[in-house]
Amino acid sequence: NRKFHPDDTVIHLPGGLSIGGKQLALIAGPCSVESKPQITEIARRVKQGGAQFLRGGAYKPRTSPYAFQGLKEDGLELLQEAKAETGLPIVTELMSVRQIDLFLKAGVDIIQVGARNMQNFDLLRELGHLQTPILLKRGLSATIEELLMAAEYILAGGNQNVILCERGIRTYETYTRNTLDISAVPILKRLTHLPVVVDPSHAGGISWLVEPLAMAAVAAGADGLIIEVHNNPKKALSDGAQSLTPDQFDHVAARIKKAAPLF
Ligand code: PEP
Ligand code: MN
Repeated sequence: NRKFHPDDTVIHLPGGLSIGGKQLALIAGPCSVESKPQITEIARRVKQGGAQFLRGGAYKPRTSPYAFQGLKEDGLELLQEAKAETGLPIVTELMSVRQIDLFLKAGVDIIQVGARNMQNFDLLRELGHLQTPILLKRGLSATIEELLMAAEYILAGGNQNVILCERGIRTYETYTRNTLDISAVPILKRLTHLPVVVDPSHAGGISWLVEPLAMAAVAAGADGLIIEVHNNPKKALSDGAQSLTPDQFDHVAARIKKAAPLF
């Protein structure tokens, strides 16, 4: 709460990086880690484009149990290899309390809690005992208050390194995958001291919408963006329709970087 903590929280990461400071944080990479060539190629390209963090799912919360569920432990290993090659810290989703030790051993730099787990209170409590930064995504239909109370579960345990993520919420609109609640950004910034990151990829669900939504997020005061990028979106094992190619990412990242200092 801003009342008790007037200054913005800045989360410091290895390599002099931070989230919540003056510089806009750019997190980019595929929805899912699929293979060594895929993740290393994408990691190299997003780094060139200006991303400071690599995202990639090893454990995937898929709607259908028959859809690709992620490479799991092998995926974590491939992320570590991509990190070793590029120096980019890793952001990846943890789905269960049982995976915590594995994630710590794998040196995951930022643990993502997905929309579907935002109110998994047991999980949030356990993550509160770590010091690893947590990227907490807003639940599928969660209110701002519910997102903040979920964050509180982590903070109350002693882990102050929480990053909030607006990734769109379910509304009656069906053109987009979700509706980006752009007003959540200034509201969260007003109510809390925590950094706020926007995910235009899962919000819109369509690759051409990523650029305007990302620009809107920057204008609204977001501290960072998390963007899905794939070297062959048509063949992606998850979320291809919303994934940018590396060339498209270069273009979006350049526009974002130009715009960010204005806000
Ligand atoms: C993801 O980041 O790939 C993901 C599954 O996101 P969300 O939890 O926001 O749906
Ligand atoms: Mn995804």
